[in-house]
Amino acid sequence: NELPNDLAPFWMPFTDNRFFKEHPRMFVAAKDMHYTASAGHQVLDGTGGLWCVNAGHGREAIVEAIRHTAGQLDFAPTFQLGHPLAFEAASRLSLLMPEGLDRIFFTNSGSESVDSALKIALAYQKARGQGTRTRLIGRERGYHGTGFGGISVGGIVGNRRQFGTLLTGVDHLRHTHDPARNSYSRGQPQHGAELADDLERLVALHGAETIAAVIVEPVAGSTGVLIPPVGYLERLRQICDRHDILLIFDEVITGFGRIGCATAAERLGVTPDIITLAKGLTNAAVPMGAVAVRREVHDTILNSAAPGIELFHGYTYSGHPLAAAAAIATLGIYQSEGLFQRAVELEEYWADAIHSLRDARHVIDCRNIGLIGGIELEPRPSAPTKRAMEVFHRAFDSGLLIRVTGDIIALSPPLIIEKPQIDEIVEKLAAILPTVE
Ligand code: PMP
Repeated sequence: NELPNDLAPFWMPFTDNRFFKEHPRMFVAAKDMHYTASAGHQVLDGTGGLWCVNAGHGREAIVEAIRHTAGQLDFAPTFQLGHPLAFEAASRLSLLMPEGLDRIFFTNSGSESVDSALKIALAYQKARGQGTRTRLIGRERGYHGTGFGGISVGGIVGNRRQFGTLLTGVDHLRHTHDPARNSYSRGQPQHGAELADDLERLVALHGAETIAAVIVEPVAGSTGVLIPPVGYLERLRQICDRHDILLIFDEVITGFGRIGCATAAERLGVTPDIITLAKGLTNAAVPMGAVAVRREVHDTILNSAAPGIELFHGYTYSGHPLAAAAAIATLGIYQSEGLFQRAVELEEYWADAIHSLRDARHVIDCRNIGLIGGIELEPRPSAPTKRAMEVFHRAFDSGLLIRVTGDIIALSPPLIIEKPQIDEIVEKLAAILPTVE
């Protein structure tokens, strides 16, 4: 399992290979619910790769679509030109979006989707004569990728501190996570509306006429599976409507069935103006992201008579043929296998499993929605390594891939998971937790 020393310096996973050097583990293959690590070790995928492999690994229909397209149309420029696969992918994707959000822009990642959405929001405000609306509002503990826009609106101070000014005119709503009130709640706790009123604080502070958009993850994933308390998103929508502010949902994780519907917007009954997507769009077989935009927002930018409003924005690989083909095949699998519905059917079983860990050593909270789960551990005050990271290592060695973020274990298995595999995940964690000091 060792990385040959002569290769070690070259690749920088996540720009930081110190961790990898200490624990050189590599994947060499993946099929259905499992990875194969380099020594032949089978690892149950409890995280869908990085919250993205919703249909399971190595799906033949996706592989075949990519293979066929690579031989047929390896690349097509999208500036002033098009190709049918991208139109078909956009049309299929639009059918999964909430009513009215049927204008699709393709990107290559979640970070690009976020930057694109922010630019679209600003262009829209300008196009409708509201050029003073340039402020953007994110949320503490929000994660929106690693682009300059995403780290600016993102609510992780450590991710942006070292980069200086970034986007100016950005504020952050207070985060919604309060372990004292959320502990062990099944489903959503109840105190959302009062938390969302924090947006009124920012409106009062700056004036509504300065604010372009609010961006939130409906369920914050990367910072620990933080499920919005009941009423939170509804109230954000009301306040945005009252002050004519755009609402953006970053659904890079929650999209494509993770919480039982095509979007969290659908599951939670709140429709934003813009949705950012990536990950599950192609089952992660090739990189692709997308932004779904409310028709009126798109058309306002397109038809604006104001000078200088054409939105110059696009990537060389927007709507890449291989990605478009993979997306079409992936959306086909989700539909033909009813995988979003499967997340609904398994939700109760999954909740029981996650919550069976509530009395395990160190656990201070368990939470779940759809097929996503978070298990929060009591922080260890002084030791350099977090408990959750020790659980990660032991889980990996026992054949289970989890994700850890701070003191939280995050789970988001492929939606094809079977009940015995859910049992396996919690049995492994139940065995490991008491062994961690
Ligand atoms: N937004 C959210 C909500 C995410 O979870 C992520 C990635 N985890 C991103 C944006 C960034 O996506 P990418 O890593 O593909 O750029």
